[in-house]
Amino acid sequence: MTSCRTRGLILQVYDHGESDKIVTFFSPDIGKASAIAKGAKRSKKRFVNKLEIFSLLGIIYRPARRDSLLFLDEAELENGFIPLRHAYDRYVAAIYAGELTLRFTREMDPHPELFPLLLWAMHSLTEGREPLETAALFHLRILRAAGYEPALDRCGICNGGIQAGGEYALHPGSGSLVCGRCRQKQALSFLSLSVQTIKFLGHAQQTELPNLGRLRLPRKNALEALAVLHRYTQHLLQHDIHSWHQIIKPAAALQPAGR
Ligand SMILES: [Zn+2]
Repeated sequence: MTSCRTRGLILQVYDHGESDKIVTFFSPDIGKASAIAKGAKRSKKRFVNKLEIFSLLGIIYRPARRDSLLFLDEAELENGFIPLRHAYDRYVAAIYAGELTLRFTREMDPHPELFPLLLWAMHSLTEGREPLETAALFHLRILRAAGYEPALDRCGICNGGIQAGGEYALHPGSGSLVCGRCRQKQALSFLSLSVQTIKFLGHAQQTELPNLGRLRLPRKNALEALAVLHRYTQHLLQHDIHSWHQIIKPAAALQPAGR
């Protein structure tokens, strides 16, 4: 079997049997993939400090014959993103980006847009960017990469544009906005989105990835965006994003009582 070379960011690692490890990584050319590293628990030299969550690796692997598990032959550490493991809020935001990536992709199905986005999130969090803001931006952009970008420029029912002072919500079934009037008429109960948050998200959808780091989202708007994007994603995937509850909890505890 010929060896292949790729790069990959590790999103999951677990022990397998006495001496092996299985890693799931995301790669620019093969997408999500799982590989077995034979003897990784014993051979300290070959894989030491490399097969860790959020490690960005140069990878040499052999394709699997039948099942989807690749053979990981060699790994070269490109970036360990170490600061992510030393601050809880950065760590859970990185886990959140990883969980969304795992949920929105299939094994061996390349998503060229997604790899740079994932690296953007890891670099932003490592460099100390606000974790809730990074999580909200990542969530918004992975929806686009997966083909589910929400439509945020008008009400999806009456087609009315976004008015200052208006009330809006995101319809989880259609991924479009619903204005207050349409919502009342149809007695729909969705999570609200303020005009300020809608404008920010709309702007973030249009911004090129290298410039995404210049956008600033206040904490309360980031929480509002994350609540709505989470609800929409639960509907799309028919599955929860478990780490969402961790990123929301400590942040919500910081909010003054009564909000
Ligand atoms: Zn409307």
